[in-house]
Amino acid sequence: MLLLERFSFGVGDRFAHQAKAQLAAFQKLEKDGIHVAPVWNKSNREHTFIGSEPQSVFDAAQAAVRELGWTQHWHIDADHINLKTVDRFMSCSDFFTIDVADSIGKPAAPADVQAFLHRHPELVGVLNIPGVATPFSTSLADVERVAAKYLLAAQDAGNIYRHIAAAKGEDKLIAEVSMDETDLPQTPPELLIILALLADEHVRLQTIAPKFTGRFNKGVDYVGDLVQFEKEFNDDLAVIAHAVRQYGLPANLKLSVHSGSDKFSLYPIIRKALAKTGAGVHIKTAGTSWLEELIGLAEAGGDGLALTKEIYAYALEHVDELCAPYASVIDIDRSHLPSSAAVNTWTGLKLANSLRHIPGHPEFNADMRQLLHVSFKIAAKAGRRYTDLLKANEEIVAKQVTENIYDRHMRPLFIN
Ligand SMILES: [Zn+2]
Repeated sequence: MLLLERFSFGVGDRFAHQAKAQLAAFQKLEKDGIHVAPVWNKSNREHTFIGSEPQSVFDAAQAAVRELGWTQHWHIDADHINLKTVDRFMSCSDFFTIDVADSIGKPAAPADVQAFLHRHPELVGVLNIPGVATPFSTSLADVERVAAKYLLAAQDAGNIYRHIAAAKGEDKLIAEVSMDETDLPQTPPELLIILALLADEHVRLQTIAPKFTGRFNKGVDYVGDLVQFEKEFNDDLAVIAHAVRQYGLPANLKLSVHSGSDKFSLYPIIRKALAKTGAGVHIKTAGTSWLEELIGLAEAGGDGLALTKEIYAYALEHVDELCAPYASVIDIDRSHLPSSAAVNTWTGLKLANSLRHIPGHPEFNADMRQLLHVSFKIAAKAGRRYTDLLKANEEIVAKQVTENIYDRHMRPLFIN
């Protein structure tokens, strides 16, 4: 079986120019004695917006791996796929994020729900799971309600999983099941039932991405109750360890946090929980290397700065259209967005400082950052003009990309 490492970290490389700079961060961490497997993720939606093919992600990653002499594993994540979109990812991905959020809450066959309840009397009553803060107390009606809500999603996961396994071979794929792109978070007792449902479907998942409590907006920090997140995260770890023993799921099954990038205030909580339990984690980030490209181009000045200002001006004019597909994962206060006339007078340093995510920096602007995060389509439209500038300013851009991943994400997650 192709096994995902204990620690893995997903990066997005929208324009396929930063794989080397991203991999350099993993190499720095390796020198610190911490092995984290790189996973390049790009969703079908991103490919559609940019007009790229999944193979380009594999090619860019492979070139980086060769150039830097990376000898450990690396993976290509077909991010948020379903039965309709998975096929174009089949030949170039080994990690598949099976997204079944759309089936949550849709009715399953009543007989299937009853059969599940008959198979799993152990889910009813007071459940004393080692590591869970307060024992779960569930009635038959509770289990029935949760099973009915998630059964169709689990069956979908089974269908997609078998489709991929038939094409690739079950031992040559890493399966993740994601349920994060939905309205309500999944509680730890619900997670246990979901894992039982997936085990019954024979899905050999190695990671599961629930929706956690709180807001996971793109490119900015967590908004929510940290105490509640900590309790939920630790309970989820305990539930997973229990489900592995109880239902024979893969021993390396771990949580995948679809972070949307930059959840700095969660990193110490996650680090502490992993150290305490010995659990693994997959942290998926959201293509924010594209923002580091803008930051680098702004700092480079000249044509790079000029294009960055143009992209901002265009984004501001098309704010509704750009934000619509991401409405549930951004919170932009438009009164904090400076006019393009104002931004056009800025130095490259000021623009870079506004976008670079250093909490507490007086020039940091989370609203501008979120807007530009969802504006990568504009750079895609600029085509060669944009990518030629990336090549011409490779060094300054790469420095931003590596530092961002290593200093602001990896160190706080895995070191201190
Ligand atoms: Zn996600």
